[in-house]
Amino acid sequence: MSLAIQDLLEQDDFADRCVRMETPSAEKSKPTGPVDHTAIRQAVRQILRAVGENPDREGLLETPRRVAKMYEEMFAGLHLDPGRHLDVTFEENYDEIVLVRDIEFTSMCEHHLLPFRGVAHVAYIPNGRVTGLSKLARVVEEVSRRPQVQERMTKTIADLIEDRLGTSAVGVIVKAEHSCMSMRGIRKQGSMTVTSAMRGTFRKDAASRSELLALINGQG
Ligand SMILES: [Zn+2]
Repeated sequence: MSLAIQDLLEQDDFADRCVRMETPSAEKSKPTGPVDHTAIRQAVRQILRAVGENPDREGLLETPRRVAKMYEEMFAGLHLDPGRHLDVTFEENYDEIVLVRDIEFTSMCEHHLLPFRGVAHVAYIPNGRVTGLSKLARVVEEVSRRPQVQERMTKTIADLIEDRLGTSAVGVIVKAEHSCMSMRGIRKQGSMTVTSAMRGTFRKDAASRSELLALINGQG
């Protein structure tokens, strides 16, 4: 027995295999706090080895650490409530469209863990209360910093604005290029995916929707 353990200890991937042997309990797999750098570093070493690389090669030595840092940044939104940016509102007697367009974002497609990048146009018609314009950009930023699909991202942004600003008139349009489509698979570069969530007036009233689309396209 002890000989077998000694053998295991001498294998350089022992630590990695310990990680693999850990049974993730429901409690453990739930993200509760900051990113676990050690686990990411071990996983990246395993991936490098699995594709036929030597993770101890000089050029790759720092790669696991860099990837862990990058994932911490790309997935920071998992640990934040993006809706909190909309908690402070101001009373304002304005009931026309408020639109912040071309909010740039980079998110990570949850199917391939590859980035998708683009812009979000976020609009609402205030129901007596408005929020700071930069807060809408912050909501987009934080919602995008999670493993995402563009459809859910679009809906989440609309839901947050509808809930927190107490208005049913919300329009969100997201346009993005997905690396998983441009650099692998069908390799279609430059193709854009467009998703939209139209609520309340923007959904029911064609004139309001046209006005919004004209503003987004710069014809307003
Ligand atoms: Zn993908």
